[in-house]
Amino acid sequence: MALYVQKFGGTSVGSIERIEHVADKVKSFHQQGHQIVVAVSAMSGETNRLIGLANDISEHPTPREMDVLVSTGEQVTIALLSMALQKRGVNARSFTGWQAGIKTNSSYMKARIEDIDTSAMRAQLDAGGVVVVAGFQGLDGDNNITTLGRGGSDTTGVALAAALGADECQIYTDVDGVYTTDPRVVPAARRMEKVTFEEMLEMASLGSKVLQIRSVEFAGKYKVPLRVLSSFKDGNGTLITMEEDNSVENPVISGIAFNRDEAKVTIKGVPDIPGVASKILVPISDANIEVDMIIQNVSADGTTDFTFTVHRNDYQNALEILRSTANELDAREVTGTDDICKVSMVGVGMRSHAGVASKMFKTLADENINILAITTSEIKISVVIAEKYLELAVRALHSVFGLDAEEETA
Ligand code: ASP
Ligand code: MG
Repeated sequence: MALYVQKFGGTSVGSIERIEHVADKVKSFHQQGHQIVVAVSAMSGETNRLIGLANDISEHPTPREMDVLVSTGEQVTIALLSMALQKRGVNARSFTGWQAGIKTNSSYMKARIEDIDTSAMRAQLDAGGVVVVAGFQGLDGDNNITTLGRGGSDTTGVALAAALGADECQIYTDVDGVYTTDPRVVPAARRMEKVTFEEMLEMASLGSKVLQIRSVEFAGKYKVPLRVLSSFKDGNGTLITMEEDNSVENPVISGIAFNRDEAKVTIKGVPDIPGVASKILVPISDANIEVDMIIQNVSADGTTDFTFTVHRNDYQNALEILRSTANELDAREVTGTDDICKVSMVGVGMRSHAGVASKMFKTLADENINILAITTSEIKISVVIAEKYLELAVRALHSVFGLDAEEETA
């Protein structure tokens, strides 16, 4: 007998039929003798609808009332799912965040869970019942309702699993696992059986938006085995674990992530002396613009070109700031482009294999794709290329690094 936390996302509980379907699933696990704690999202579209109502009243609703408002979505789902389970003869009981003992700090709309008092949930489990918890919400030290940020029900699921010492936290969603890359770009993308937390974090932050990043960090920190699987289709999904698979057949690269929301700016001909990098970047960070890659070249005449990438939304702003810095530093020129994208190969196998970068660059060269910037970490290599080459690059790399699903032989 195992203890599972099962989190169902908005699409999985998006209609009455779907809630009934979730109830069937939960009932069958429960009947196998497992202890089940369910965490649910609001029905799909509901959180956005509630935010829309608030914005109809005020441009700047207070964060406290926003949390009182948006937390209602999940309260609807826990009641409906509990009713559906009860109709099936299952002893189920709904718990709002505070009834489940979820204590958070006071940062409305992005609260962090500080502690979970599991005693009420334990009593229900000990009585043989199913626990149904509202995701996304908690209570701060002054009894104010808080929410955990968009997509926060994933974090609720993981935090409950950690606090209860669950055997696994299962995230049920509308995809059947984590893929080697976006299947819409590479039809030959494969579902991964396993991926490490580290890899998943690199992939999530690069746009594989299957899980809220914070929930993955949380699961890694508390060593909660996490599984992503489909609510609609049977299968093993993808297990996210601590263990690295060192078997020989295991590919060096686990997945390829990409991001289109990129822009690149360059300031040319600045003096190559101490303090210049900070003179360039301090005004950028003061404007709250996040910098991703940074490249600096020294040219023969003792000046340097300085390039960095930012989110596409910050492009115009970054250019303007850079122009005024260029005046101050007597730089030659400021240039930029937002027709770029970032492609990243991720894999813990890189640690023990040489030649990954050169193979990547060769692959891109063979496709005549120019690399505009490069960064590396222990388990990731990212390149910036023109956006029009995104599909071509990802497909070529996916195939060269042996990630393509095997074609069915006739
Ligand atoms: N309902 C919240 C949202 O839409 C939380 C969640 O679904 O995870 O962001
Ligand atoms: Mg979600």
